[in-house]
Amino acid sequence: MTDGHIQVMTGIYMDNNATTRVDPQVVAEMLPYFTEQFGNPSSMHSFGGDVGEKIEWARGQIQKLLGAEHDTEIIFTSCGTESDSTAILSALAAYPARKEIITSIVEHPAVLALCEHLEKQGGYKIHRIGVDGKGRLDMDAYARALSDKVAVVSIMYANNETGTIFPVEALARMAKPHGALFHTDAVQAVGKIPLDMKNSAIDMLSLSGHKLHAPKGVGALYVRRGTRFRPFLRGGHQERGRRAGTENTTGIIGLGKAAELALSHMHIENTQVKALRNKLEQGILAAVPNCFVTGDPDHRLPNTCNIAFEYIEGEAILLLLSHQGIAASSGSACTSGALEPSHVMRAMNIPYTAAHGSTRFSLSRENTQAEIDRVIEVMPKIIAQLRALSPYWGVNGPIEERTFAPVYA
Ligand SMILES: *Cc1c(COP(=O)(O)O)cnc(C)c1O
Repeated sequence: MTDGHIQVMTGIYMDNNATTRVDPQVVAEMLPYFTEQFGNPSSMHSFGGDVGEKIEWARGQIQKLLGAEHDTEIIFTSCGTESDSTAILSALAAYPARKEIITSIVEHPAVLALCEHLEKQGGYKIHRIGVDGKGRLDMDAYARALSDKVAVVSIMYANNETGTIFPVEALARMAKPHGALFHTDAVQAVGKIPLDMKNSAIDMLSLSGHKLHAPKGVGALYVRRGTRFRPFLRGGHQERGRRAGTENTTGIIGLGKAAELALSHMHIENTQVKALRNKLEQGILAAVPNCFVTGDPDHRLPNTCNIAFEYIEGEAILLLLSHQGIAASSGSACTSGALEPSHVMRAMNIPYTAAHGSTRFSLSRENTQAEIDRVIEVMPKIIAQLRALSPYWGVNGPIEERTFAPVYA
């Protein structure tokens, strides 16, 4: 670490919903714009070279990936979080008489924390729509929450923990008659499932570079033409006055290339990646007792699988997986010193005994058959090893049906 050398990471990476490896073709596309064409796209001199044109090329790639009608509907931002904030705050500023927001209880913190802030500091009323045991949105509660007091609905396209896909088109159509804008955090969906914004009722859509093999620190917000918009960052005239600040030229160019690659690889997601995910899932379910898939298996991202292992803790699973060179992620997080199941697991009412052991495997087009076989081989051993230490687990399985204390409030 200290001798200036970077350790080359080897192993099996199955945490692509957290972040992805930058595709080497993306890096190659970016490189000349650090040193050869480093100019500011707003400058009149030639050091800007074709940077401005290249940014417009990148915008066109995002347009194609989203199936958007106009490239002016794409605004580059610094990340998915900024896109989410921009969309929601823009809607509130554009419709000041409307003081309500609808969202779901399983959103990413980028939306949840902003809504909580707006509730406490801004006096907004937040409708947080719940989900059932499979992570499916409560459509009746959503219909009841809609009214002409709602400025914006923000509901994610697909959940990052379980991969569950929400019926956002139907939700957006339902919002229309009430005059509420519809925003979706599509950070997990973009690049994994085909989108067609030309024929959509969605007004605004967020995406993030590092979830689709582009670098960290670049994102985009789609804003349908004709949608009232108020900028989040004010200053220069970049992005047609809708997002001030000198453009992250290399990041934007990387995102453009990543979008081009994502579109050309889209067929792989629903065939190769999905087949690997299914093999992994079925292999684990067949080899390990007392575990189950969380989320909605019928409406799910092709790359994601979240399995809850009863009577053990996700953190321990991750540690042992990591000893085997396998990177995954868990559905629990250390909040205030105690290991707590995530808000997504709690929202689905997954029993405490299982929510603690929930483990997310998120694949990408870079994963291989051999990697899947390896994980299927080690997983039963890891689970057995941990259960041997569990006070709730005997030689023949769980000692008795019981729950870890405390149970959910
Ligand atoms: C990763 C993620 C974000 C945040 O994106 P950043 O670019 O890291 O800010 C937002 N929403 C979802 C669903 C995500 O998975």
